[in-house]
Amino acid sequence: MRVIPALEPSGRTDHLYQQFLEVLENQGFKGELRQDYGTRLVTSTDNSIYQVMPQAVIFPKDTDDLKLVLELSSEDRFQKISLTPRGGGTGTNGQSLTEGVIVDCSRHMNQILELNLDQGWVRVQPGVVLDQLNDFLMTHGVFFAPNVSPSSRATLGGMINTDACGKGSRIYGRTSNHILELNCVLSNGESMCSVLINQDSVEEYKLMTGIQGEIYRTVDEVVRSRKKLIHDTFPRLSRFMTGYNLAGVLNADESTFNLNALLSGSEGTLAFVSEARLRLTRIPRERLLLVVHYGSFDDALRDASRLVESDPAAIETLDEKILTLAKKDEIYPRVQKWVEDPEGRPTRTINLIEFSGDEITELEKKIHPICEEILKKRDTPGEAHGFFITDKAREILELWNLRKKGVGLLGNLPGER
Ligand SMILES: Cc1cc2nc3c(=O)[nH]c(=O)nc-3n(C[C@H](O)[C@H](O)[C@H](O)COP(=O)(O)OP(=O)(O)OC[C@H]3O[C@@H](n4cnc5c(N)ncnc54)[C@H](O)[C@@H]3O)c2cc1C
Repeated sequence: MRVIPALEPSGRTDHLYQQFLEVLENQGFKGELRQDYGTRLVTSTDNSIYQVMPQAVIFPKDTDDLKLVLELSSEDRFQKISLTPRGGGTGTNGQSLTEGVIVDCSRHMNQILELNLDQGWVRVQPGVVLDQLNDFLMTHGVFFAPNVSPSSRATLGGMINTDACGKGSRIYGRTSNHILELNCVLSNGESMCSVLINQDSVEEYKLMTGIQGEIYRTVDEVVRSRKKLIHDTFPRLSRFMTGYNLAGVLNADESTFNLNALLSGSEGTLAFVSEARLRLTRIPRERLLLVVHYGSFDDALRDASRLVESDPAAIETLDEKILTLAKKDEIYPRVQKWVEDPEGRPTRTINLIEFSGDEITELEKKIHPICEEILKKRDTPGEAHGFFITDKAREILELWNLRKKGVGLLGNLPGER
């Protein structure tokens, strides 16, 4: 890997990869196969600091295309071919970059396939973008709860494979908490449907032929024989981390077995997700957003631990650096009066605290003591000096959009790269 920027025309696709693409085409691959410099260059970066030039980029049309790609790559002659799935390319660690072939699931495999409101789930292809899904669900009064900042680009395939979570994870958890079923294509092109099963069924799954049986036998053996090591090693965090979550395979009393705990967060290294059935959450009827103003970052952080006790749906801190950068952004005039103190006290950091629920009175009960405390102590050094409350959807959206812009604003900081 190399640090950007590095724009240098590179040679043609390697002979083996060239051959791989030709055979794919001859065997009826329906999507697009691209080796042109422009397409490779675009997918040589994501939201990380890295740039890695792929040999080719392919855009599968459907699950059969994915199966064909993986089946072919498992042949002896193509053992050296490496494949990396890609969604929106918003990952921040270079997870979707490769020197091999990028398999971009976002261009064609982006359909919402089935909605079951009675049972509260939706079935999607991996290239569906989070905002696309939630815009569709909104009229039905439900939503997919894990919420990442780049929701306008991040795909469900990418969110599953990074076990993404964001605003609202305090109460809604992360993506893996909302997965009911994953349809995957394995490294030899085999299809696999993974759901939570009870312990009795594991023995049946272990008898399966092909890679699937091997997977169940291996995972069951590992999580049982290394139980203590896994228990002692894995941190118990509500916002987990990307990686193989061995601690999540068995439930507390070991009565259920969930392979999806491993698949989610596996960064595309275990299987290609071709479809997902996801649990939906009812949209709360009421929302209140509280913006609290502070003279310093330390004051805001110290206060955050008190604010969390009021059980908000989300809490986020925007520090002086981001607020200063935001002043030069087009969004600032729209949020200025809510993030600045009307009496002119310098506001260097803010906390955004959202409360949601079905009864506005319940939310007010949580928010009023906080506001009273601020009014009482606003002239005491180290305490918050002001606040703004809104229940207006547009204002709430604008304020969260300011938060969403945070990483992008930091990325635009002038200085040496
Ligand atoms: C400004 C900013 C803010 C962010 N905020 C958050 C946040 O709040 N919380 C958070 O968790 N993350 C956050 N992220 C990280 C990133 O947005 C998430 O990880 C997102 O879920 C990635 O989705 P994507 O579609 O862009 O995936 P990509 O970046 O394209 O891929 C991510 C991983 O998923 C794999 N993958 C993609 N599709 C498939 C598939 N069909 N089958 C198997 N593997 C697949 C890729 O190989 C790769 O390993 C943020 C990123 C940015 C730039």
